[in-house]
Amino acid sequence: MGNPVVIIGSGLAGYAVARELRKLNTELPIVMISADHGGFYSKPMLSNALSSGKTPESILNGDAVQMASQLKISIRTHCRVVAIDQPGCAVTLVDGEKIFYDQLVLALGADQVHLSLLGDGIEKILTINDLDDYKKFRDALAGKRRVSIIGAGLIGCEFANDLATSGYHVDVIDISAQPLGRLLPPAGGSFIQQKLEASGVVFHLNATTQSVDQMQERLCVTFANGASIETDIVLSAVGLRPRTQLAVAAGLSVNRGIVVNRLLQTQFSNIYALGDCAEVEGKVLPFVMPIAHAARALAATLAGKPTPVFYPAMPVIVKTPSCPTVVSPPDFSITGKWYVDADKDGVKALYRDETGNLLGYALLGAATKEKNNLTAQLPPVLM
Ligand SMILES: Cc1cc2nc3c(=O)[nH]c(=O)nc-3n(C[C@H](O)[C@H](O)[C@H](O)COP(=O)(O)OP(=O)(O)OC[C@H]3O[C@@H](n4cnc5c(N)ncnc54)[C@H](O)[C@@H]3O)c2cc1C
Repeated sequence: MGNPVVIIGSGLAGYAVARELRKLNTELPIVMISADHGGFYSKPMLSNALSSGKTPESILNGDAVQMASQLKISIRTHCRVVAIDQPGCAVTLVDGEKIFYDQLVLALGADQVHLSLLGDGIEKILTINDLDDYKKFRDALAGKRRVSIIGAGLIGCEFANDLATSGYHVDVIDISAQPLGRLLPPAGGSFIQQKLEASGVVFHLNATTQSVDQMQERLCVTFANGASIETDIVLSAVGLRPRTQLAVAAGLSVNRGIVVNRLLQTQFSNIYALGDCAEVEGKVLPFVMPIAHAARALAATLAGKPTPVFYPAMPVIVKTPSCPTVVSPPDFSITGKWYVDADKDGVKALYRDETGNLLGYALLGAATKEKNNLTAQLPPVLM
């Protein structure tokens, strides 16, 4: 038997490939290497865990030992890969150990973007991108009441809803004029804003966060216009950046993410990437559905049957129960325009091209019931 398939990363992408590959080949040796605990959990659950009564412990579906036995793979936990020796087909761990591979899968995820802010409280700013971050956040919440969230995007709004409905005072700060500015036209933004405000969320829009300072036990967030708010916890949710450093150092093509073709293959035929770290035919799609499709295709390829990935339309449900919302973001590089139908019960926004073809949508409130019908009319994301 040759060297194993080595998967770097134990997030949804790493586990999805391992699981799909096992279905196709029960013998192939698979080694998963993870910088973290290596347990399996559903990351999207982190942003509605409080209101659904979940703890960090109950979110974990299986630890690394259980997962290794279930999938019949070997899992190296708390092991950071520091280099890829592409010509030698090996990865180097932080302690210098080398692990050789026949095929390498990069499922490295993405890093939270950190704003460069001033103030002596910036060390206290929290971000949540994995279960360990979430544990820290839940520990920090103990006995506290006020949370300020920087960023009114998908993750910021989901946490705001979760915290507000769980009894916390929540301030959300964003530089833009509306929440979910990248996903919703203005009518949709103001609808979700009103619904979240009705749940107790306080928005500070068109506001640039400038500094975070310690004020005895509390923190003070100051905006560029001089206004400030007092809070117990500052959570930053201003976006993600694909983890590409390893790939860059190994000479792999990197653009916004690690560049791969429809086979999820980098320019080196036995190195692949998927999930939040990957850029598939120019698209970086940091969501669960693309991972499921990519993992199935990649597993077939790794098992010996080269299989290009196909992405159908993949709507994203925004987990804001105070304002049910589903979006299928259009490819904004195609010229088109929003057609919006809004009333007190909901917003139906359809993005159409010049000839009237539906390219994407945003549905809020009562309009979400049209999801299936509209999704069927959308073009695939990747043909
Ligand atoms: C709070 C939150 C809510 C979300 N909600 C939704 C949702 O509702 N719907 C949706 O579609 N998407 C949602 N997402 C996005 C979705 O969860 C991600 O797209 C997905 O989990 C990414 O999985 P991944 O495996 O690519 O990356 P990750 O989960 O980040 O995994 C990366 C893995 O790589 C490991 N790693 C990185 N570098 C190294 C190294 N050098 N050596 C060894 N190991 C390394 C890490 O330790 C980790 O195990 C949400 C994200 C967040 C943060």
